[in-house]
Amino acid sequence: MAAHQRPILAANWKMNHGPTAASAFMASFLARYARRDDRSVILFPSALAFAAARSAVADRPDILLGVQNINAAEKGAFTGENSAAIALDAGAAYVLVGHSERRHVFGETDAETAEKVKRAAAHGLVFVLCVGEKIEEREAGQTDAVCVRQLRAAFSGLPAETLRDAIVAYEPVWAIGTGRTATPQDASNAHAAIRTELRALAGDTGAQIPILYGGSVNAGNASALLSAPDVDGLLVGGASLEAESWAAICSAGA
Ligand code: PGA
Repeated sequence: MAAHQRPILAANWKMNHGPTAASAFMASFLARYARRDDRSVILFPSALAFAAARSAVADRPDILLGVQNINAAEKGAFTGENSAAIALDAGAAYVLVGHSERRHVFGETDAETAEKVKRAAAHGLVFVLCVGEKIEEREAGQTDAVCVRQLRAAFSGLPAETLRDAIVAYEPVWAIGTGRTATPQDASNAHAAIRTELRALAGDTGAQIPILYGGSVNAGNASALLSAPDVDGLLVGGASLEAESWAAICSAGA
């Protein structure tokens, strides 16, 4: 982690926790996690639980909120979708873009991911670009190449200034929701390759972009992953759904 940076702990609830469960979770989590200025905590609830999460953190400006997805269009006839402007109006400061489930379950392409990045940036939403290889790509030794391809597709041609607030999450697809975590060494290796590419794409600005690790992070492995070189934070799915384990992860590390 760069010396000036605070670790970022981000919770991706995916399609879990409606408004009722989100309120209960928040009451329990906030009682267990006191504000700490040495880290940033971001939660990504479902769109319909967003308002409940937002009202729960009204007195906790240290807990930040984001949406899990936006449509790449500005507005219009896209039934069921949410735009960057709607997310911002609802109180989101962050958006996940290019999550592996969007790419591999919903078939989103690198090009669509790039459009979403542009739209988020145009509205001042901080985008968390997720990249990572599938198991067959890993076994073929293509981990770095896949991450570099996804980074270039999303960021090439963007002015470095647009990337000032960007975050990247390295999430190997084989580690997501599987209980198979990358070792701290695996994570560091991939993060170093990502850092090199970010520097090539955006110079010093690129070198400062925080890189999170995601994929079967839990309260038991969070500290080791967080202390690995080049790991600037964690993006957590399953283990962020329970207030107790999420509070433990938010307290991980030094
Ligand atoms: P997981 O999910 O922690 O359940 O593996 C991580 C993610 O998909 O962001």
